[in-house]
Amino acid sequence: MSTIPGLWHTQRAVKALGTVVRRRSRRGLVLLYHRVAGPRFDPQLLDVTPQNFDAQMRVLSERMEPLALSEFEKLRRAGKLPARAVAVTFDDGYADNLYAAAPRLNANGIPATVFVTAGMIGSGREFWWDEVERIAFMPRVLNGMPPALSIPWRIEDGAAIAAEDGRMEWNVAARVDPSSRHRLYRGMVAALRRMPTTERDVLVSRWRDWSGVTEGARESHRTVSTKEVIALAEARGVSIGAHTMTHPSLAQLSATEQAHELRDSRRWLETTIAKPVTAVAYPYGESADVSAITVAAARTAGFDTGYSNIGGTAWRWSSRWRVPRILVRDWDAVTFLAQLDRWFVE
Ligand SMILES: [Zn+2]
Repeated sequence: MSTIPGLWHTQRAVKALGTVVRRRSRRGLVLLYHRVAGPRFDPQLLDVTPQNFDAQMRVLSERMEPLALSEFEKLRRAGKLPARAVAVTFDDGYADNLYAAAPRLNANGIPATVFVTAGMIGSGREFWWDEVERIAFMPRVLNGMPPALSIPWRIEDGAAIAAEDGRMEWNVAARVDPSSRHRLYRGMVAALRRMPTTERDVLVSRWRDWSGVTEGARESHRTVSTKEVIALAEARGVSIGAHTMTHPSLAQLSATEQAHELRDSRRWLETTIAKPVTAVAYPYGESADVSAITVAAARTAGFDTGYSNIGGTAWRWSSRWRVPRILVRDWDAVTFLAQLDRWFVE
């Protein structure tokens, strides 16, 4: 008999836990991905390999409550998210989102929103950070100083191409730069990161000329075409959001330029996919990239919600114009689940 009260307490505890689990939640997680690709050299840490993406989607379908972003947002504002609610988002609009991500999302029944940089569609160019990767690492020889860049770069370093070995493992989070090519890359990225688009394009073009690298997009690094963005919009469970026209740090631009970036991208996408586009993800999405003017411009452009790249849980009271997102890295299932658990506990 002595075990029965104990058992009863256990049963009651289990029931109470069930109540907690079933209770509507005031928080959830918006996950931020960029690419399903690799393994390969990935200095900006944008790739999740297909193998790890498969594993992560299984974790979401088995252990979490994945929702379409619009549904997530509606329930979040009402404080009615289910427990362990997550929404999957992709930034930038790489072609692999259609070919590598969409089938895996579909196979696991996971909805997703892809924030597309409208001006990159059909441009035949790579994003500036991918161009800079080619400029810094691809030429066998680099002569002299790159124009308009002041970094500790010596001519004699320029002759020696960065060794292939050790390159695969290196990325911007590394504490040590194994060669002057890595310092060059880092310096170029830092110089361009918050530069207005026109200046940025001029500088990249000067560096391209200096290095002998040609314009054009590698198949592995291209963005979606017009046909592909339409196909993505029609893929089951996938919706399209805007990510501006030219991927600037919006807060660095004039109010007029910000208005153009936001309004034009929304209009272009809506016309192309013939569906409403109500969500925007701010490029880079950190505090310094999004000002009060940015938010006002997003509202005026007709958006309903703005997503940041500031890591955190999305609470009922999080601003609809700066919804936090969790940046997902190339984690295996165990690490991914541990990361999600950490955010849900905090
Ligand atoms: Zn982006």
